[in-house]
Amino acid sequence: MVGDLVKAVVGDRGTVDVLMSSGVDPHLYQPTRSDLAKVLQADVIFYNGLHLEGRMDESFERAQAAGRAVCAVAEAIPEDRLLQDEDHPDAYDPHVWMDPVRWRSVLMVIREQCIKMDPNGELIYSENIKKYLQELNAVDAYAERVLLSVPKDARVLVTAHDAFGYFGERFGFEVVGLQGISTESEASVQDVNQLVDLLVRRKIPAIFVESTVPKKGIRALIEGAKAKGHEVQVGGSLFSDAMGDVGSWSGTYLGMVDHNATTVAKALGGQTPTGGWRSTRESTPSDPSKSSP
Ligand SMILES: [Zn+2]
Repeated sequence: MVGDLVKAVVGDRGTVDVLMSSGVDPHLYQPTRSDLAKVLQADVIFYNGLHLEGRMDESFERAQAAGRAVCAVAEAIPEDRLLQDEDHPDAYDPHVWMDPVRWRSVLMVIREQCIKMDPNGELIYSENIKKYLQELNAVDAYAERVLLSVPKDARVLVTAHDAFGYFGERFGFEVVGLQGISTESEASVQDVNQLVDLLVRRKIPAIFVESTVPKKGIRALIEGAKAKGHEVQVGGSLFSDAMGDVGSWSGTYLGMVDHNATTVAKALGGQTPTGGWRSTRESTPSDPSKSSP
């Protein structure tokens, strides 16, 4: 998600190398030897921060000591805009990209860093951001519209781990994760039982798997609810801590927001266009990408 935004800002003025690909869990990711070489050679390293990439912190520190520019984009967001990590009151929830409005401010952090290294590119960076912001604002408005079409009582999002706190704040959903903010500690039997009780009591119709988290926990919830006479569906797979495959629509940040909003709204009884935001966008006559050959 960080790489996608950096690419949008930098455009043709630089080369962006993304270390973590689709399906990778950043909480657990260990840098490879080739990653470390790239980190030490880069002009600037952008990462999320707030302890998301816990096992890479050391290599970023080493790069900084070696004179590389290192920029933790989410740590530049004012603290009063961050959510607390409930399990660790002295830490913040790192999953800021789940709220497109908060994530928008990261563009400016990237821009500042780029201008510092390449002052002549300032106009281009600003122009790139202007273009990207139009799309980002449009997908955010779409997500708000379809998620608000979910009946009020059904606005509960149950997922494998606590990645959706900012999503919940932005779009008015109650969010419950089986595992905590990080995927480092597994859910206990007690966690599963508590969440099963909630599913049964609130008659929650669908829960969601995440592309970066094993499905085991979600299956345990479905079986537990079934044993108590409540049928829960898998509402679909959401992209929480990684985007979809490179080259696919959900492999972009805009596509990820589109996919998540559409999947959640559809599974919980909201109104969604068949192909999500993308389909509505492609049918807009004023879309410049349509008129180009
Ligand atoms: Zn996470």
